[in-house]
Amino acid sequence: MKKILFVTSEAHPLIKTGGLGDVAGSLPKALAELGQDVRLIIPNYQSLKASGEIHFLTSLRVDNMSVNILETQLQDSAVKVWLVDQPEYFGHPGNPYIDETGNDRANNAERFALFCRIAVEVAMNRANLDWKADVVHCNDWQTGLVPALLSFEDYLPASVFTIHNLAYQGLFPASKFYSLNLPGRLWTPDGLEFHGLLSFIKGGLVYSDRITTVSPTYAKEIQSPELGYNLDGLLTYRNASLIGIINGIDVDQWNPATDTHISQQYDVHSLERKAANKTALQQRLGLPVDSAIPVFGVITRLVEQKGIDLLLQYLPELIAMPVQFAVLGSGDHAIELKLQELAVAYPDKLSVTIGYDEVLSHSIEAGADIFIMPSRFEPCGMNQMYSQRYGTLPIVRKTGGLADTVEDALPETIANDTASGIVFNEATPGSLLEAIKRALLLYQNPAAWKRIQARGMSKDFSWQQSAKQYLALYDGI
Ligand code: ADP
Repeated sequence: MKKILFVTSEAHPLIKTGGLGDVAGSLPKALAELGQDVRLIIPNYQSLKASGEIHFLTSLRVDNMSVNILETQLQDSAVKVWLVDQPEYFGHPGNPYIDETGNDRANNAERFALFCRIAVEVAMNRANLDWKADVVHCNDWQTGLVPALLSFEDYLPASVFTIHNLAYQGLFPASKFYSLNLPGRLWTPDGLEFHGLLSFIKGGLVYSDRITTVSPTYAKEIQSPELGYNLDGLLTYRNASLIGIINGIDVDQWNPATDTHISQQYDVHSLERKAANKTALQQRLGLPVDSAIPVFGVITRLVEQKGIDLLLQYLPELIAMPVQFAVLGSGDHAIELKLQELAVAYPDKLSVTIGYDEVLSHSIEAGADIFIMPSRFEPCGMNQMYSQRYGTLPIVRKTGGLADTVEDALPETIANDTASGIVFNEATPGSLLEAIKRALLLYQNPAAWKRIQARGMSKDFSWQQSAKQYLALYDGI
């Protein structure tokens, strides 16, 4: 049994802004189910929602700051959660990274540097918790300083750093390096320096024993200039220590047969019951109730990465066809406004919900016929997997985890029951439009449609396989 400290800035259902939250909420659970002693460490944000009891464990001083460690439990699991409690840094409502004005919180460098220092103290058994980590598993830039700081320790635990999205790197002015009092030896281009800036993510990429990312295809893509964000050289250099492990999904939470957020539960043997969810969705969103009209779902952060602008380009043309769109998302204000304008112009065709709404996200997965993910890049992506499980055909661009988890519907893949969605190549409005037209054509062929639905619904997206791969990785260090 290994003692694994899972270091993360979000974990569902405590707090989530995206895919990292999904992973951190379920991978530790899956590792615990494989008999490992897993502890999750996370900042105690004011907006964090613990389902169980929270109690005080200990307090320690780091950087002249007093920090409490509280303990709670990850829902439905044996995983203990250690909350890093420092109200000045984490006691604000709302998003963990962004303030009310939509900007990064001004003291993010200080906040996550403190979090990293505490994680190191805990991992090294210097926090009065009587527990020393064998493996420290860090995630994204917010935790990047952990492997860098651990490199100064004797008898240090093995470290793994997972890239959930290389586009977010935690870059700060060089002056922060000094004000954070980081060890001088780290300030080199082979260390935390990145073109004159302080890079948190480089702490993970340079100093961890192993680097993982969340799909095999993305692991290759980030070693190329197109998606490497000037870190492709470093990642290529570390190629022998870099591996892509596809994310699983929480198959209990995302199960149409037991989902309590949807109006009619169903499975692959009772697919006809999915129709009631379409009706409920149309009613809830104020769209005309019509079972024959294909409903396209979109659930996403509204940022350039997700390629929603590709959809917007031809939306007026698309809307002229017999289709309905159910869009849920938030992010870039310009995209939000554009979507809202179109929803006002075409109320019978397009429903737009701006915000974050977990219940609605389940209703869309269950009620839509088709789900659109035209991402420019996508490290793994979750909704294409949820969609397949819910018999909702995903249209995805061939990139990252989307390429690894969706099999394009071609005559041969439909015939041999491997097709599970529609895949298109180019990140252009034209290619997306073509893919949507292919989906509409396929929708006219109920027999083929059903086979594709059945294939997606029977795929194993559970964490078990992936958790075993992580365990093998820890063992190999
Ligand atoms: P990313 O991490 O880049 O945002 P992923 O596809 O990996 O993308 O994960 C996004 C997760 O967040 C999914 O579980 C998705 O359903 C959820 N999500 C995104 N936007 C919303 C929203 N507005 N409301 C509810 N859930 C959302």
